[in-house]
Amino acid sequence: MVGALAVAALAAGAVVAVPADVAEAAGPSGSKGGAKVVYLTFDDGPSPAYTPRILSILDRYGVRATFFELGENVAAHPSLTAQVARQGHSVQNHSWSHPDLRRLSGSSFNAQVGDTDRAIRARTGHTPTCLRPPYGAVNGTVRSRAAALGKQVVLWSVDPADWSRPGAAAIRSRVLDNVRPGSVILLHDGGGDRSQTATALPTILSTLKARGYRFATLC
Ligand code: ZN
Repeated sequence: MVGALAVAALAAGAVVAVPADVAEAAGPSGSKGGAKVVYLTFDDGPSPAYTPRILSILDRYGVRATFFELGENVAAHPSLTAQVARQGHSVQNHSWSHPDLRRLSGSSFNAQVGDTDRAIRARTGHTPTCLRPPYGAVNGTVRSRAAALGKQVVLWSVDPADWSRPGAAAIRSRVLDNVRPGSVILLHDGGGDRSQTATALPTILSTLKARGYRFATLC
């Protein structure tokens, strides 16, 4: 679990960078410099092409991650969502169809989030407690609507832009050059060709482990 402070800080709109003092406060130890924990997150799945491959890499390294899934993909590939949860990962809410939540009516917002909750619960037995808004697009209305549904808004602090397919080497270096204790790393297992993400992942995991990091799930 991430500390309440970190979630609050992320929810406050730190899309790209979390201030060092906040990131360090994310560690459960409270020690100077923070605990060496990182939170890997995967958005936009599940995807039959990439989610199983990413799951098998995570399994090989004994790493647990958080998957922010789209309800429409859960409905299309329900056994994959069940597999993600069965392998010990956290499955959380990324809306039904990836709209900008700031542009929705209240009833559309509730349908996007509530329908996704129900789809995930049906396949995992757990109702998501966190919502990651598509594009990181948040405002006061999104925050209050999310809170009314019992959701914490969770963004990220390290974004290698893997979705833009900059090359596996760039994804690796962008993560490894920017990670710090308490980092929430944004990657994608759905929404397009994620082969570069899958190729980059083993070195990211082995390097962070060699640096003494442990991995935890958000939410
Ligand atoms: Zn997304």
